[in-house]
Amino acid sequence: MGGFQSPHPLLNCSKCGVQLVRIISKQRATFGQAFVKCPNNIKGDPTTCGIIMSEAQYEAWLRKPEQQQQIQSKMYLCSGEGGHESIDHILDLKEELNEVKQKLDSVVADLWVVKVQVQKMKMDYVVVAAVCVGVAIGCLMSKL
Ligand SMILES: [Zn+2]
Repeated sequence: MGGFQSPHPLLNCSKCGVQLVRIISKQRATFGQAFVKCPNNIKGDPTTCGIIMSEAQYEAWLRKPEQQQQIQSKMYLCSGEGGHESIDHILDLKEELNEVKQKLDSVVADLWVVKVQVQKMKMDYVVVAAVCVGVAIGCLMSKL
């Protein structure tokens, strides 16, 4: 099957400390019903762990304070891992930003070179224009 989605997280057995398992009953009386049990529970063997309950019993069991503590500690672990992931993500973003910044710097440097060239060209034009005006004025002056 594999598609069975659990409505409740599977905690550890309060006696054995191993994670409980969810099984679907193949017994005639309870066929198709979900049960939560300890992996150490063996049906018909009273010397094994006695933790086995229906989904409804498990829900009630989850509400007990000792199980709530376990749920909270599990949730704390999850959020801790999540926080670590997000820090890694921020570091990645920082590296990306640095790359973008470096690219921008090189673009800015290129633009600066272009600007200098444009300014040089402008200077040339100004010089040429000044020479022309000078020549023109010279011509005018000499004609006068
Ligand atoms: Zn157990």
